[in-house]
Amino acid sequence: MVLRLALTVAVAVSLSAGAPAAASELRPVKAAYASQVIGHSAKGRPIVAWHLGESRKPKVVLIAGMHGNEPAPTAILRTLRDGKSVHGVDLWVVPAYNPDGLARGTRRNARGVDLNRNYPYHWAPLTGSYYSGPTPSSEPETRAMMRFLRRVKPDWILSFHQPLHGVDVAVQRPGFARRVARLLGLPTATLDCGGVCHGTMTGWYNHRFPGFALTVEYGARPSRHLMTKLAPGQVLRIFGAWRGTNKFDVLP
Ligand SMILES: [Zn+2]
Repeated sequence: MVLRLALTVAVAVSLSAGAPAAASELRPVKAAYASQVIGHSAKGRPIVAWHLGESRKPKVVLIAGMHGNEPAPTAILRTLRDGKSVHGVDLWVVPAYNPDGLARGTRRNARGVDLNRNYPYHWAPLTGSYYSGPTPSSEPETRAMMRFLRRVKPDWILSFHQPLHGVDVAVQRPGFARRVARLLGLPTATLDCGGVCHGTMTGWYNHRFPGFALTVEYGARPSRHLMTKLAPGQVLRIFGAWRGTNKFDVLP
């Protein structure tokens, strides 16, 4: 321990003793994050999770593009992935959970299944645009996310959708839901699926794990400015996290 501390000090001294840092080095470093393929879609497209932030509490997973005709919030997650380094949270983002649906602009996956009705909790045989699949967790996208969430066990999950424009507060943790609504500038709402929600990802996660998963609904046409300039920072603030410079980002 003492040796490691001494080495750290030596490195710091050698850095500060060198030539003055160029102006470009004082800018926040653009982060390059590790990615993992957590599974593949029915058509074989990779489903990618990016690990941002630091290994500390809270552990958060953000999911967008679960329904392929609700693409706007994918820009929030891609902006976080491609921007300045994230601090104060152990963050995973899955910007394009349903890549086949996103490629075709359809709610459901390539096999015509609504992934948010395919989870094995209160699953029911639904038809039409909410087709829940032949059996619970029949879809490769569902099984990929279940494996990923079982492994990561996040404290919090936000699942971004459109176009209902609100955050459901009729949930197990209404205080958290109200905080999410306030910081994202969205109204509070009751999104009850017209009764029981069958086979949803949030329902499955909240039943099986101590963490909490919440659905966030933006409107039909949120502005690009909101998705890329405002919402990324707003989402981080929910968890007390931030982007940009800190002592690890710039040379002394
Ligand atoms: Zn949706």
